[in-house]
Amino acid sequence: MTVAAKPPAAANPTAIAAKPLLAVDKLCKYFPVRRGLFARVKQWVKAVDDVSFTIGKGETLGLVGESGCGKTTVGRALLRLIPATSGSVTFNGRSLLDLPRSQLRPLRRQMQIIFQDPYGSLNPRMTVGGAVAEPLRIHGLVRGATLKDRVAELLQQVGLPPDAAYRYPHEFSGGQRQRVGIARALALDPAFIVCDEPTSALDVSIRAQVINLLQDLQKNLGLSYLMISHDLGAVRHISKQVAVMYLGRIVEQAPTAALYDAPRHPYTRVLLSAIPVPDPTKRRVRVSAVDDEIPSPINVPQGCAFHPRCPLYELLGKPEACRKDLPPLAPIDPESKHLVRCHYHADISRLDSAK
Ligand code: SF4
Repeated sequence: MTVAAKPPAAANPTAIAAKPLLAVDKLCKYFPVRRGLFARVKQWVKAVDDVSFTIGKGETLGLVGESGCGKTTVGRALLRLIPATSGSVTFNGRSLLDLPRSQLRPLRRQMQIIFQDPYGSLNPRMTVGGAVAEPLRIHGLVRGATLKDRVAELLQQVGLPPDAAYRYPHEFSGGQRQRVGIARALALDPAFIVCDEPTSALDVSIRAQVINLLQDLQKNLGLSYLMISHDLGAVRHISKQVAVMYLGRIVEQAPTAALYDAPRHPYTRVLLSAIPVPDPTKRRVRVSAVDDEIPSPINVPQGCAFHPRCPLYELLGKPEACRKDLPPLAPIDPESKHLVRCHYHADISRLDSAK
């Protein structure tokens, strides 16, 4: 079988937005693996490796991939909830990772997070009003009767009645609890929110409502989101651009329509082909990974990390470049905003003819 020539590596896999609110550059987060009597560091798990992207004001970047690919670690490292190993994060022109804690506090108000499990993120012994008011109290922003009004306003913004403030989290459904989590994140008037799998713990029927709420809030308040999810269907509706992660690295990043209409990485094709089609008269042709088991992040395969599972690698006769050389994240054309990390992305359509 003939193997297509490798396309030339492009020099600069840069960010997409021109004037970003948030710029993440070469972010890395490695966790030590300790073993033995003295718990010496034997290996490093590269949970996030060389991740770069930007998010403009009022925009959403969807960050997708299977469990364990490092997407949640990206969100936590850029908010400094866990320390990054290296790289830089710039928010509103200020570098975050080397900022002293005292200067970080006012910036933290502008950067919030919505957690995956709305029940786990709320104190069961605190009323909903108390939970929503807590960040306002901690930051000393609103007091007395004004605090009550502000809580009622926040609850109303997320579609809950004012009397919800006097009830406890267990009295609400999963979707309503996630609305409380969103109200809490909005309390400090943030500019940017990390939405960490905000719909994955919810019933399918409720997911669309929460995504629509996030979309409305973005429109009304000019919010920017990093939408972390394994659900490519949900991410599509809210994202301006989407990045796909595999074993700690971004393997494809593009404006949303380009990524969904013409994915260039075999892994993105595998993920997209698994989305159910809402029309019962149509069927999506499934592209399967060769091996359904994701490799351990402790032993990331050499070369292209996806090669043991890659259907294109198999189809092309297992080219040596895939096993030996890590492909760069490079534009598909010199001027393109569509970036892909695959030596043979120009041959992606051969997967269609192989079905
Ligand atoms: Fe598959 Fe090779 Fe492309 Fe990796 S570089 S995605 S193994 S074809």
